[in-house]
Amino acid sequence: MVLPFTKTVNNEDETAQLAVDFAKLVNNGQVIILIGNLGAGKTFFIKKLLASFGIRNVNSPSFAIVNEYEGKIKAYHFDFYRLNKIEELYDIGWEDYLNDTEAVLLVEWGDLLREALPVKKIEISISFMDGTKRRFDFKEYE
Ligand code: ADP
Ligand code: MG
Repeated sequence: MVLPFTKTVNNEDETAQLAVDFAKLVNNGQVIILIGNLGAGKTFFIKKLLASFGIRNVNSPSFAIVNEYEGKIKAYHFDFYRLNKIEELYDIGWEDYLNDTEAVLLVEWGDLLREALPVKKIEISISFMDGTKRRFDFKEYE
């Protein structure tokens, strides 16, 4: 996979394969944001992505705002959905998470608080199509 990259998948299995393919591009210090409506598959994609690094305990961090995992990589999994303002993010130590170059930072609903995000990031947009079909758009910003 070379970014930018677009792919339409037909079902969960194809999303899982796409996550495994994308995992080859993942490096420490990266910020990866996932954009897409409720049920698009942001958490599903992150689960499959992190499973390829031996991380199995992945769950939506909506209420906690952030989950931390460790396997072959260290990962911070954020969900901005329930954040009301940027201060809530800074209160839980957002800058420390961002500055941890040993970890990969994954952010669901990253588009809800764009001002908190660095310019350099990968954006994954997921669009609903018919049934279990989804379109994935991967873009990299430097
Ligand atoms: P989000 O985090 O974007 O709100 P979730 O990942 O929690 O969404 O949920 C996605 C739901 O859609 C899951 O129940 C999953 O099984 C289902 N689903 C159906 N087809 C797909 C697909 N092609 N890719 C990912 N998830 C799919
Ligand atoms: Mg989710």
